[in-house]
Amino acid sequence: KRKRGEDELVSLTQKVEDLDLKAAVKNFSDLPLSDPTARGLAASHYKTLTDIQSRAIGHALKGRDILGAAKTGSGKTLAFLVPVLENLYRKRWTEYDGLGALILAPTRELAIQIFEVLRKVGRYHTFSAGLVIGGKSLREEQERLGRMNILVCTPGRMLQHLDQTAMLETHNLQLLVMDEADRILDMGFQKTVDAIIDHIPKERQTMLFSATQTKKVGDLARLSLQDPEYVAVHETA
Ligand code: ADP
Ligand code: MG
Repeated sequence: KRKRGEDELVSLTQKVEDLDLKAAVKNFSDLPLSDPTARGLAASHYKTLTDIQSRAIGHALKGRDILGAAKTGSGKTLAFLVPVLENLYRKRWTEYDGLGALILAPTRELAIQIFEVLRKVGRYHTFSAGLVIGGKSLREEQERLGRMNILVCTPGRMLQHLDQTAMLETHNLQLLVMDEADRILDMGFQKTVDAIIDHIPKERQTMLFSATQTKKVGDLARLSLQDPEYVAVHETA
C-alpha cells in the first residue's frame, strides 16, 4: 500500500514537471492534481478554471513565485489554495512537519472566507488548518497553533504569535500567500508584513495577489518575491 502511494507521488511530481505552461488549461481535470484535491474540487462543484486560475496555477504548481492581479470575484482564492494544498502534498507534508503554509488576509472576514474555501476543497486532505484572527484569548489560540500545517490569518494577530508563541515553529515554512495585498497595505500593515517576512525562511514560495496594481504592491512584490511570474487578468471590452 505504501509503495503504491509512493509511486503515485513520483508520477504526480513528474506530471507537474512535464506540464506545458503554454497550453491553455480549461478544466481542473486537465491539471496534474492529487486525488484528494481533485475530489475536493469536484465535490465543491468546481470544474472549469477562471482566467486567473488557468494562468497562475500551472506556474504555482511548479513552485514559481506569483504576482497575481485580478478584480474581485475572479477566483483568486483557488488560484492560491490549490497550489498550497498540492505543493505540501507532493512534499509529503504531515502533522509532524509543522507549519507549511501561511496565508495572510487583510481582515477577519476575508480570512474566514478563505478558511471556508480551504475546508471545502481541502476536505479529503489530512492537513491540519487553523484560523488566526484574534477574538479569542492569545492563550487559547497558542495551544492549537503548534500543530497546524496551514494557517489563515490577519497580519497583526499573526505577528503577535510569531513574537510570543514558542510552540509555533516557522523554520520549515514552504509557502507564504498574501491575499488582497493592496488592502493589506492600505490598512497600514506594511511594517507588520515586513516583520512577518523577517520571521520566516527566505527560501520559500510566495504568492501575492491583489485586485489592483499599486506602487505599494509593486514595492512589496520586489521585497518579497523571487523572479515572480506576473499574472494580470484585465477585463476585455
Ligand atoms: P476573488 O478572490 O478574486 O474576489 P473568489 O476566489 O472569492 O474571487 O471567487 C469568487 C466567486 O467565484 C466565489 O463564489 C467562488 O466560489 C467562485 N469561483 C471561483 N473559482 C471558480 C471556478 N473555477 N468555477 C466556478 N466558480 C468559481
Ligand atoms: Mg479574494
